[in-house]
Amino acid sequence: MSIYIHIPFCNKICSYCDFCKMLYYKKWVNSYLEELKKEIEKEYKQDTIKTLYIGGGTPSSLSIKELEILFKIINQIKLDNTYEFTFECNIDDLDEEKLKLLFKNKVNRLSIGVQTFNKNHLKILNRNHNYKEVAETINLAKTIGFNNINVDLIYAIPNQTIKELKEDLDLFTSLNIEHISTYSLMIEPHTRLYINKTEQIDEDLDYEMYNYIINYLKNKGFNHYEISNFAKKNKESKHNLTYWNNENYYGFGLGASGYINKTRYDNVKSLNKYLNGIYKLNEEILDKNKTIENELILGFRKMEGINIDAFNNKYNIDILSNKIIQKLIKERKLINENNYIYIKPEYIYISNDILVNFIGETYE
Ligand code: SF4
Repeated sequence: MSIYIHIPFCNKICSYCDFCKMLYYKKWVNSYLEELKKEIEKEYKQDTIKTLYIGGGTPSSLSIKELEILFKIINQIKLDNTYEFTFECNIDDLDEEKLKLLFKNKVNRLSIGVQTFNKNHLKILNRNHNYKEVAETINLAKTIGFNNINVDLIYAIPNQTIKELKEDLDLFTSLNIEHISTYSLMIEPHTRLYINKTEQIDEDLDYEMYNYIINYLKNKGFNHYEISNFAKKNKESKHNLTYWNNENYYGFGLGASGYINKTRYDNVKSLNKYLNGIYKLNEEILDKNKTIENELILGFRKMEGINIDAFNNKYNIDILSNKIIQKLIKERKLINENNYIYIKPEYIYISNDILVNFIGETYE
């Protein structure tokens, strides 16, 4: 069992952001933490937790005092001996005191939103930092004891060239971090970029950049283990693997999602409702077909794909007897090898076109 906790506050709103977030406002933070405590006390069934992930928003936007309150709530959660506890951070928020507080409170993985070092692109994204600040903060974190650090990289930024992407990759990998999550910039409705009518880059260039990143990071010793994620040996995100392995997790906080006892749910996105004790927006009990559909769609995100024996034992069916799987294997879009089925790497960029085949299928 895993837990995701959402902290929706940010000190600054990025131009591309369509996450559940709002500007930091002290009064709201205090009320939010009180309500979060109530939600966790009500919903958490004292299970032992393998992975805990505090995301946002920007959890690191909280002050030391507010973080102490948050950790007091979290300390009630029972963690497994081999737990992974990730905390999402913005570089501007991190100083020695905050990093030490996180470390003292069992955080053992940092996820830092860096995105790019290119000055023009930072401006487009409405973010502000430079290489020196990022490198110094990451070194400080390492000195304090963090040895599992992810940084997010955004590519396909308007007018970005392959040369500029390479410059970013050179700088990112020089940080000696263990994990890189990559995102192709999508211009989503209701974002500043969308309102400003910013144009998405050409799809061919996006494809070229995706392949460039894969080759570059592989050469630097990163394992490409999920469509957009790269890790050094044994540093894959255990928390995100619980999603891709279709395992159970609680989602606490505004706009969080969870999956428990065959039920998927989303929390409300209205702060007002949340502070009035209304947590859930919707929930859906999944039947066997829907559960298998999710298992396939999520599992095929992993480059290693789906373990055939584990799948067959879990669902008491033979995955290889499924007509769609057979068809995709015949077309060489899926590969059946060494007890795994996976998407052929050259099709991973268009994996959605493959995954859509599993929607609405009957597996019994
Ligand atoms: S991208 Fe992250 S830091 Fe930026 S506004 Fe959205 S949630 Fe906040």
